[in-house]
Amino acid sequence: MQPETVDTIIIGGGLSGMYAAFLLAPTNRSLVLLEARSRVGGRILCPEHQGFFADLGPSWYWPMINPRVNALIRALHLKGYPQFETGLGRFQAKDGHAETIAGYPMEPPGWRLAGGMISLVNGLRERIPEAVIRLNHPVCEIQRLDDGVGVTVGRFDQEPRCRLKASRVILALPPRLAARSILFTPDLPYDLAQAMLRASTWMAGHAKFFALYDQADWRRFGLSGQGFSLCGPLGEIHDGSSDTHRPYGLTGFVGIPALRRNNGDGMIRAILTQLSLLYGPGAAQPLNVYYQDWAREEFTATEYDKRAAHHHPEFLPPSGATSFWNGAVHFAGTETADELGGYLEGALSSAERAASAVCPFG
Ligand SMILES: Cc1cc2nc3c(=O)[nH]c(=O)nc-3n(C[C@H](O)[C@H](O)[C@H](O)COP(=O)(O)OP(=O)(O)OC[C@H]3O[C@@H](n4cnc5c(N)ncnc54)[C@H](O)[C@@H]3O)c2cc1C
Repeated sequence: MQPETVDTIIIGGGLSGMYAAFLLAPTNRSLVLLEARSRVGGRILCPEHQGFFADLGPSWYWPMINPRVNALIRALHLKGYPQFETGLGRFQAKDGHAETIAGYPMEPPGWRLAGGMISLVNGLRERIPEAVIRLNHPVCEIQRLDDGVGVTVGRFDQEPRCRLKASRVILALPPRLAARSILFTPDLPYDLAQAMLRASTWMAGHAKFFALYDQADWRRFGLSGQGFSLCGPLGEIHDGSSDTHRPYGLTGFVGIPALRRNNGDGMIRAILTQLSLLYGPGAAQPLNVYYQDWAREEFTATEYDKRAAHHHPEFLPPSGATSFWNGAVHFAGTETADELGGYLEGALSSAERAASAVCPFG
């Protein structure tokens, strides 16, 4: 099989890879983005309900500390709106007993995006030539060659789907996932491989829930929709309503660790029972519900991520390296950002760094 030869290959079509492609596309005609899934967006996932997009990945950006996200929203003509936080919160103790508590607004204030976070990815996609993005292209092997880098697409237990060759590669996926699922030849330096495995993938161990309603009972009761529970299943709850009117929404993170999580209908029923206890019986009658367990996603999480990181780790380029193999392979992806790693802002800044290294005059 003769490899297809291009200048630059981006591996991963999450926000970071898509932003790198958007930056490089105008100057680099020979560009390919290989995405393992049948969709772009990675950890950004927003199922649609009658024109509303429910964020099952990131919900917030923080305008006060996210300059790149702000700029991208402006460039794509999108609109943000503040997280609804007016009213009182709810707290549920270990024994299930619920009480009303003072509200606890986010600091700095968090904003949601009209059209869901996927509108960032869709906006970028519209500006990237169609031929660049190849879905259903999981990379399984990356090889250093005398004159560049060889990339094999496919599964280890099947014949390769295709091979490509490039002068430069941008790795726009979590470094832990890359170290765990891609075979590098020759071996990566030991310290680098270990640092990649140690960089936990932010939120990969979590599961998120979204319920949609045609009215927001909790607001009528003077509640903000914010809740905090020590018994679960949801550990943290927020108002997830649309910016205009219907649908209204409650959304939250499951508090049960991935290793002990038993998904399925029982989980949804238990969450709706919890919501009705916290926000009234109407909360058990949603128009629609969505549930996403990120720990079960082979193109996000590894077995290491099932032990969820509860505190935000300090992400940095692995082992201090922003590239390896003499500048042939560059790290992007939020976990390799120099600052605000783990967040959308870090996904953009790491993409910017990799794109300018690959194409300094771009
Ligand atoms: C539940 C949840 C809530 C979050 N909340 C927030 C929030 O409120 N605010 C915030 O700023 N951030 C939040 N985040 C983090 C945010 O989602 C990430 O920072 C951002 O989406 C990361 O983008 P990325 O492109 O670096 O990585 P990813 O989105 O993980 O993209 C990597 C891409 O690589 C692809 N891929 C994987 N393996 C291969 C392979 N072998 N070959 C080819 N492609 C491959 C994947 O399919 C994926 O598309 C949250 C994340 C989750 C899961």
